Amino acid sequence: MSGLLDYLQADLEKRQALGLMRQRRLLDSPQAEHITANGQAFLSFCSNDYLGLANDGALVAALQAAAAEAGVGSGASNLITGHHRYHDQLEQALAAFVGKPAALLFSTGYMANIGVISALMGRDDAVFSDKLNHACLNDGAFLSRATHHRFPHNDVATLEKLLQASTARHKLVTADAVFSMDGDIAPLAAYLELCERYDAYLYVDDAHGFGVLGPQGRGSLKHLGLQSPRLIMMGTLGKAAGVAGAFVAGEKIVVDYLIQYANSYIYTTPAPPPLSAALLASVKEIEHGDARRKQLFDMIALLKSELSLTRWHLLPSETAIQPLIVGDNHEALALSQYLQKHGILVPAIRPPTVPANTSRLRISLSAAHSEADVRALIAALHAAEREIPAGTQA
Ligand code: PMP
Repeated sequence: MSGLLDYLQADLEKRQALGLMRQRRLLDSPQAEHITANGQAFLSFCSNDYLGLANDGALVAALQAAAAEAGVGSGASNLITGHHRYHDQLEQALAAFVGKPAALLFSTGYMANIGVISALMGRDDAVFSDKLNHACLNDGAFLSRATHHRFPHNDVATLEKLLQASTARHKLVTADAVFSMDGDIAPLAAYLELCERYDAYLYVDDAHGFGVLGPQGRGSLKHLGLQSPRLIMMGTLGKAAGVAGAFVAGEKIVVDYLIQYANSYIYTTPAPPPLSAALLASVKEIEHGDARRKQLFDMIALLKSELSLTRWHLLPSETAIQPLIVGDNHEALALSQYLQKHGILVPAIRPPTVPANTSRLRISLSAAHSEADVRALIAALHAAEREIPAGTQA
């Protein structure tokens, strides 16, 4: 071997030595709170299925009926012959649900973010992003070729200075509504005010708020009472909605423009129509899902009130994402492996996904967790603190 392959091997060895190697796990049960992975049973706190809809009977039945009727493949891109009635009905249902004039479906949240930002922004424009934004918002800014300003996490004052100083033709502020690795909510009301003052637009990634926050789970913007033609929201459909995909909702002119210019919408085969049928059932379950949301928020309150650790601490998050900060990469991995040995899965999240020295366990709670599940996690974490010596290498 020489050249590229040697370089790849050396890089992977370095990654392993730093405790940063990422591993896949083979799931051989439905994705749920009690799973079988690599042949072993686990209680899982890994999933973003916040409302427990991924295995819901109504969604499965809707998917099966639609597959029998419409087949399983979309066949061609949306602008050729792939735009099915189920896709269209779902776009209309989602727009109405989040209270926006129009919505457009994408196959994944990742594709939505890179497609929207690169379509709306160009060389003469500027994108302003929170430093902790999800990677696909940054990739969208990069693809757009716009000037990319990254401001410190939730730092309204720095964002204002950057907007004030910018001479860009068009300006787009981007932020996760609920940060995927921290669980906190962005100061979106303050951002919107700045956008109005400095003639900018606000693109909100509500991957972790849609279905969970706001009245009937209508999302973070409804939760915060924000409405403006300057707001464009993206919601993912593979997390609380329990299936897969994403949508962008905003003014009709924005959606019309994206249909013409968003490459990740135009040059790809849409998700199969039966997924949209399952998602139509999911939107109904979300809308009538107050009992699920109550269970989820009860589990969040239980974890926050009963977990009592001195070496590691929970970040102050009010959402389903409850990060337990460990700091060191190896220790975070050791803690995750300790829990795994005791039948509990919680992923260790390390750099570059999170900043250096903030390696953490990302505890993800769901309405499908019972009180006994959460108490089992709390007891295991208390035991881990007693039993794992400080500075342990995984
Ligand atoms: N945005 C955020 C904030 C996310 O956490 C994720 C998924 N981890 C995405 C976008 C991408 O969504 P998808 O998984 O549908 O591609």
